[in-house]
Amino acid sequence: MNPVLIRGGRVVDPSQRMDAVADVLLVDGRVARVGQGIDAPEGAETIDASGLVVTPGLVDVHVHLREPGQEHKETIRTGARAAAAGGFTTVVAMPNTDPPIDDPAAVGFVLAEGMRSGGARVFPTGCITMRQQGEQLTEFGELINAGAVAVTDDGKPVVSGGMLRMALEYALTFDLPVAVHEEDPTLARKGTMNEGIVASRLGLTGIPNAAEDVMIARDLVLAELTGARLHVQHVSTRLGVQLIREAKARGVRVTAEATPHHFTLTDAAVEAYRTDAKMNPPLRSEADRDAVRQGVRDGTLDVIATDHAPHHYDEKEQAFEDAPFGIVGLETALGLTYTELVATGLIDLPTMVERMSCAPARAMKLDGMGSLAEGSLADVTIMDVRAEWTVNPASFLSMSRNTPFTGRALRCRAVRTLVGGRTVWRETQAG
Ligand SMILES: [Zn+2]
Repeated sequence: MNPVLIRGGRVVDPSQRMDAVADVLLVDGRVARVGQGIDAPEGAETIDASGLVVTPGLVDVHVHLREPGQEHKETIRTGARAAAAGGFTTVVAMPNTDPPIDDPAAVGFVLAEGMRSGGARVFPTGCITMRQQGEQLTEFGELINAGAVAVTDDGKPVVSGGMLRMALEYALTFDLPVAVHEEDPTLARKGTMNEGIVASRLGLTGIPNAAEDVMIARDLVLAELTGARLHVQHVSTRLGVQLIREAKARGVRVTAEATPHHFTLTDAAVEAYRTDAKMNPPLRSEADRDAVRQGVRDGTLDVIATDHAPHHYDEKEQAFEDAPFGIVGLETALGLTYTELVATGLIDLPTMVERMSCAPARAMKLDGMGSLAEGSLADVTIMDVRAEWTVNPASFLSMSRNTPFTGRALRCRAVRTLVGGRTVWRETQAG
């Protein structure tokens, strides 16, 4: 592979506290040098990045790729390509497929398909419990050996506190992150949206904040007890953010996610029974949304993740109660984050890169990623922060179109995505 020289961009790399106009040289799949006035080596491909921002490749630690079992919604290949188009060089795939990823062969399948995708790198996770039934732990060591980077029963909570304690103790022996979907099913009942005025008006059963809060509280206590690495997925509540903030202050080893939809929308988006705004955890109140934003700002929610959840339109075009939870997110995340958090002045550009690249790579222990330091993997996102564009699901590379952001005007998009020094996505001028 020829060397690649990315010239004259604003290089923003929080992993080395760098924010300066510089050149980036990629050789043999690694970052060879970052600095001013680097000469192009023999045979190098040169990319003119003047006026653009060059960052370590974005990392999304929470995506659903639907394969095996629901390939009409997404495949590993289409998901990895949609990720690349969104500026992501790495995604971490959730194991709630059909069947769930709970044995080494299934983990190996996801890894192999990801390598063939021609898009972002794909790292599998394995289930915490067999078939996500909450009754018997999977073989963490075997899952890791097959390539799993974390364990999670995402889509479902681990209902039993005793079971989660065992999982955390087991994970600690490998220093494996345990990612948790926080929902007490006895409080969530059959709720389909946030409990509150909007749900009352629409006559829908609500999911109270407490369903999430009590599980976050429990799991922070268990993480503190065991000393294991806990990763709290898609935090949506004000108290949840506060509990994590306090646990971090006590030294608990916890990382936590904010999703672009939870820091952008409220449950008002569900008005008119819009199933494209049906997700789990649900969109909540303005106070919750603002708390999630503050959590991102102060680093309590250190990771921005999409919870990319593709669904076929037939399934979303049902009565609200019957439609599945979830929205696609890979191709709107960067624009939403920039528009909602950076352009509004809540966070600066280096903080955005920290939350979308460096911190997620650290949370999942992805060595060589989330950094442009010499020797890191040559995973690079080149973005145009001045770009103005309108969300048009018809142009998505994802197989699914379920987004509440259709027609929304956004700023900033990825114009080129490189994985291992190879361009895996490039914006054409057509759009
Ligand atoms: Zn989840």
